[in-house]
Amino acid sequence: MKSIFSVPYEKLETYFLSIGDKKFRATQLYDFLYKKRVYNLDIMNNIPNTTKEKLKEEFDFSFIKILKKQEDTDVKKYLFELKDGNRIESVLMYHNYGISLCVSSQVGCNMGCAFCESGRLKKVRNLEANEIVEQLLLIEEDLKLRITHVVVMGIGEPFDNYDNVMDFIRIITSNKGIDLGSRHITVSTCGVVPGIIKFMNDFNQVNLAISLHAPNDKIRNQIMPISKAYKLDELMDTIKLYIKKTNRRVTFEYIMLDGINDSLECAKELATLLKGINCYVNLIPYNETENIQFKRSKKVQILAFYDILKKSNIAVTIRREFGGNVDAACGQLRAKSY
Ligand code: SAH
Repeated sequence: MKSIFSVPYEKLETYFLSIGDKKFRATQLYDFLYKKRVYNLDIMNNIPNTTKEKLKEEFDFSFIKILKKQEDTDVKKYLFELKDGNRIESVLMYHNYGISLCVSSQVGCNMGCAFCESGRLKKVRNLEANEIVEQLLLIEEDLKLRITHVVVMGIGEPFDNYDNVMDFIRIITSNKGIDLGSRHITVSTCGVVPGIIKFMNDFNQVNLAISLHAPNDKIRNQIMPISKAYKLDELMDTIKLYIKKTNRRVTFEYIMLDGINDSLECAKELATLLKGINCYVNLIPYNETENIQFKRSKKVQILAFYDILKKSNIAVTIRREFGGNVDAACGQLRAKSY
């Protein structure tokens, strides 16, 4: 049975029309689910019983489950169990500008980036849109707060699950429901070019982040298999097209791996690569994990790398670190079994 939390607003309108009901039922139902947060049809008093019966036959209103919650300064990590027993995680972060949620988009991941702990578990399956929506609903309910920003940067490659992730975005941005601003949402990809092309046509207000991690194919090929499918030239051309079309600034994520991609030559090459592109670079100190041999770059190296970019007029920040103590940092999700 399809989950009600997988249905974008327009599709719900179409559904009500298809059963001979009124379009505005969709407004009523969205209002209960996403504004009042009432999930029990029996207490939705303005919806007729005949409609309720049909909804019960057609849609599943139940939720995934929170299995465990771990906390650290300004961060909470949630472990969820899906209805088929698979497990995923999300991370909530308190920033000075708001509260952001990092959601997972797949169970496991097939991209095979050499440095990433999450990808050691190969993709088991895509998440359905509702399984992403429910991460947000359950955490908001658990903490009695409203999330202001969403990043699709948890486990999985969002553009390897394009349709469901986009339905998730449609659902959380609908002004009939959660009404999160598109500009408060960021989708991060390791560089799946066809996904970027679709995305620029479908969602030109949602932020795009690219996990770049290297300034040339030689290094990128060593650490990110996707770069063999889509070479850096092609990726950069696509990003330029994206910026032309959307007029948005793109974020490049660059993890700092000791001795791999953190030399000053790399910094210069990166500055040349990004020259004139409307972007900003987020340098991410690598989070070491037990199972992977890569080391975090030395602090002085990160700062020197940063300086070169800065002097080349590239907007750059060093990512604030979250969640290392509870394995909630980038690349650490679902590393340990429970
Ligand atoms: N597949 C998408 C979404 C995952 S985002 C993507 O690749 O963008 C997760 C981010 O954390 C990516 O930029 C990833 O490269 C980065 N990352 C992975 N392992 C990491 C680690 N151990 N330390 C720091 N960042 C890591």
